[in-house]
Amino acid sequence: VRHLILVLGDQLDLQAAAFDGFDPAQDAVWMAEVAEESTHVWSAQPRIAVFLSAMRHFAQELREAGRPLHYTRLDDQGNRCTLAAELGAAIERLQPAELVMTAPGDWRVLQALRAVAAAHRLVLDVREDRHFYATVREFAAHAKGRRGLRMEFWYRELRARHGVLMEGKEPAGGRWNFDSENRESFGAQGPQGVPQRVGFAPDQTTREVLALVRTRFGDHPGSLERFDWPVTRADALVALARFIDERLPFFGTWQDAMWPGEPWLFHAHISAALNLKLLHPREAVQAAETAWREGRAPLASVEGFIRQILGWREYVRGVYWTQMPRYAERNGLNAREDLPDFYWHGRVPMACLSDAITQTLATGYAHHIQRLMVTGLYALLLGVAPQQVHAWYLAVYVDAVEWVELPNTLGMSQYADGGVMGSKPYAASGKYLQRMSGYCKGCRFDPGQRTGAQACPFTTLYWDFLLRHEELLAQNQRMKMQVRNLARLPAAERDAIRAQAMRLRRHGGTP
Ligand code: FAD
Ligand code: SF4
Repeated sequence: VRHLILVLGDQLDLQAAAFDGFDPAQDAVWMAEVAEESTHVWSAQPRIAVFLSAMRHFAQELREAGRPLHYTRLDDQGNRCTLAAELGAAIERLQPAELVMTAPGDWRVLQALRAVAAAHRLVLDVREDRHFYATVREFAAHAKGRRGLRMEFWYRELRARHGVLMEGKEPAGGRWNFDSENRESFGAQGPQGVPQRVGFAPDQTTREVLALVRTRFGDHPGSLERFDWPVTRADALVALARFIDERLPFFGTWQDAMWPGEPWLFHAHISAALNLKLLHPREAVQAAETAWREGRAPLASVEGFIRQILGWREYVRGVYWTQMPRYAERNGLNAREDLPDFYWHGRVPMACLSDAITQTLATGYAHHIQRLMVTGLYALLLGVAPQQVHAWYLAVYVDAVEWVELPNTLGMSQYADGGVMGSKPYAASGKYLQRMSGYCKGCRFDPGQRTGAQACPFTTLYWDFLLRHEELLAQNQRMKMQVRNLARLPAAERDAIRAQAMRLRRHGGTP
């Protein structure tokens, strides 16, 4: 073998740079399903199933494309259980002259594969991942010399450079940002006319994977009962098209709203397909822009959606690769509590947490505001060690890959990076959830109360969070108002809040 092309579970694209110059007469592809990737964090069953099923479908596409493939299945006899060991054995067997791969999405995996290559005195040619608008080098150049990073500036730079939603040199509609027109709540009557979500019934390959996951990882969290994620490029394209037609027009308005029993709302549900590289972000961005230009969706919604992909998605990737490996260890708020057990089963009296966690374990999905302002917010306020929060997010979502999960969790949601991802902690009380969701109506707690038996734990912990970090937060311009409100609290009230927060911590995060 001349080149052995290494393809990981999140690199499922026939057009990837690793295949440039591929010659079926001399080159071969290597893929391996290994238990390590499902156990290094305690991965939930839907996440394992998405990866394995998508890998097996992609293997079939490689065979159909006539690319020689060496594929190890999880249930193959003698599977060595780690990527490094499987690759080492493949190298012994195939004796390639060189290893080639597209840049992986996980620092740990890159180090492991580099070590294998070095041990066999082989060149590992790591090629650009063309699934992003910008390279990590371009991001580093953007970041260089800036006192602080902000997504907004990177987003504007990319829009101008790639001519996305532009009218000449100006942003379409004369503004870069339509946030003020987005982000409504549903009001008392709840969401109306949420379209039926497109599901993909498991085919033979997926059914085999589901059976395998049940056998091998049946003790892992999550359920496979409702498994219907897209696991091929064809399915992913259908999911994108349905989103553009049915949900995109309403995406912006309801982007931050939540409602009990409504996991899907007006979101796209394409993050796993994007992260596994079944879909190209350009396809999503261009489809959204075309919908606006053809008058099928309003600019505010389209800009809001494009900002998520061209803005946030590109930004977190740049943060990850320019900050790793130390980024993963950061703990800027010195948070030391354990993650409450209920994160792994969802049985908890707080209605919002119960809904978001139960839905997450049943489907492998929660939308952004549930992740940020329910599960993430509670861990932030409780003071959970960010590395434990990170392990949970990496385990439970079908779209979880470290380059995107870690900055979102450790940075945006837990503020453990000292403000690289966001300029202030996303700290809020139960009143935020009361305003933005329908959860509180069905909950036995009162978001307006800080202390006492009816007090909403979010509200108690919010004030306790401000008290614990008063000094640090007072230095942050954007937290000034919250700190000023804190100053008005009488000493006795402060003591009562602290005592109630302490009791919550002692009871594993529940009243
Ligand atoms: P939509 O709301 O429809 O948005 C469209 C697309 O924009 C998404 O598919 C996604 O590709 C992109 N996007 C939106 N927000 C972000 C963001 N903050 N960062 C990067 N891309 C974004 N996203 C992941 O893909 N993988 C993760 O492991 C992940 N972990 C997260 C952890 C936390 C604590 C938080 C707060 C957010 C996390 N996100 C993650 C970002 C976001 O929540 C998901 O991308 C989104 O919920 C996926 O659902 P969707 O496809 O319906 O997204
Ligand atoms: Fe969540 Fe508090 Fe509202 Fe209950 S009252 S749903 S715990 S925010």
